[in-house]
Amino acid sequence: MITKFINRILRRDPMVKHTQANNSGAPKRIPKKAHRIDPHLLSKNAVKVTDTLQQAGFEAFIVGGAVRDLALGIGPKDFDVATNATPDQVQRLFRKARLIGRRFQIVHVTFFGKGHPEIIEVSTFRALLDNAGDHVAESGRILRDNVWGSQGEDAARRDFTINAMYYDPSSETVLDYHGGMADMQKKTLRMIGDPAKRYREDPVRMLRAIRFAAKTGFTLDAATRAPIAKLSNLLQDVPSARLFDEILKLLMSGYSWAAIQGLKDAGLHHGLLPLLDHILDSGEDSKDANDFVKLALANTDQRIQSGKSVSAGFLFATLLWPDLLKNWKANIAKGISNIPALHDAMDDTIATQSSGMTIQRRFESDMREIWSMQPRFEKRVGRYPYRLIESPRFRAGYDFMLLRCATGEKDPAIGQWWTDFITADPAGQEALMASAKAELGSSASSPAKRRRRRKPKSDSSPEPEAG
Ligand code: ATP
Ligand code: MG
Repeated sequence: MITKFINRILRRDPMVKHTQANNSGAPKRIPKKAHRIDPHLLSKNAVKVTDTLQQAGFEAFIVGGAVRDLALGIGPKDFDVATNATPDQVQRLFRKARLIGRRFQIVHVTFFGKGHPEIIEVSTFRALLDNAGDHVAESGRILRDNVWGSQGEDAARRDFTINAMYYDPSSETVLDYHGGMADMQKKTLRMIGDPAKRYREDPVRMLRAIRFAAKTGFTLDAATRAPIAKLSNLLQDVPSARLFDEILKLLMSGYSWAAIQGLKDAGLHHGLLPLLDHILDSGEDSKDANDFVKLALANTDQRIQSGKSVSAGFLFATLLWPDLLKNWKANIAKGISNIPALHDAMDDTIATQSSGMTIQRRFESDMREIWSMQPRFEKRVGRYPYRLIESPRFRAGYDFMLLRCATGEKDPAIGQWWTDFITADPAGQEALMASAKAELGSSASSPAKRRRRRKPKSDSSPEPEAG
């Protein structure tokens, strides 16, 4: 507090480098009665960070998506803080603080409490690149990685007006440089500055526009929307890993179905996931695939909205399943036996999909596990069911199989059988297996015989009941 006072009196400026002065005018100061942010929704740790910084004489605000969500009455999933303290100055104030990134340095302040540790991301007000002409050498090499700026510049660098508000927990005031609060009331998503220019600077902003519109239910302002159709091909130049991260955020937003419809309406889905092209472009002929994906996404949205976890591997496994099923059937028609046909199809499906963006390895192995488990649900006698339920990823495979039953791709009675089997006592499990065996009839071969069979079996459809 005292330091803050001294700084104010001396007008001491803690910033390392100022570029131009605030170029977007003074912010609108919005008092509590107008923004109605409920302080109970704030993270105590985020407030600790702003308090500590302010007591050391710096400016510090909660910023970005957290303010947007707070103003919507939603508890933010994470909190970012913006300050005029440099990363080094921030780091010195907190015990558990780590400098992250080189070109875009930020500080992660970690708090350990009950449950998961919470990371508050603290960034220093950044200058607009336009104003930071001295940060790149003639050769193009970056000389200065981090050019600090004023809060006004920091606000102008952000994407949407509703993402550019600063909340000071101590005074409960929102500083609004670009009319974000008015746009919140109008339920409008508006890009700061010239939208086409901002999309060219960073094409991922087009995907963010669709994601936030789906999440908030807001309408894209006409000028913000207009350039997207023409600029959509710029996404091809975005590094695959960044694209993947953004698509993952979109799918995990809790509003994935709405967001995917949004991508389609904006003409943005091409080349992101070949499967999306396939589903969103074709009509009736892909109705089954469409139903499957729609149900999977609705299921994911529901889980996320009710605070449950969702595995990305599971989600991608569902998105690519219709394609996989098609390839699997085609392989079988070529005379390849059931299981090798499935594995070949997995390779093909993953390879085709990777033409747009690469699914990260760790998710790929989850997907393969879920997929390769599917034929095992057909084997409902002997030791097979016991072995299957003991496999570490059983739950994911089982949930996936239930989804297939729900869309009618698979006989719902089999899903029910497994649900019963999991909950039954040993005697009940034996009875269930006996009924499965009876269903198969005397013509089915025993699992032992089947395993010994050498020649590939030419099934006409995937997943024959194994005896
Ligand atoms: P959420 O975390 O709910 O997905 P968010 O708005 O917090 O939404 P982040 O990606 O966490 O999104 O970014 C935090 C803030 O940083 C944004 O609110 C925005 O102000 C700014 N920002 C992030 N990405 C960009 C971008 N590509 N261009 C301009 N500003 C951005
Ligand atoms: Mg965020």
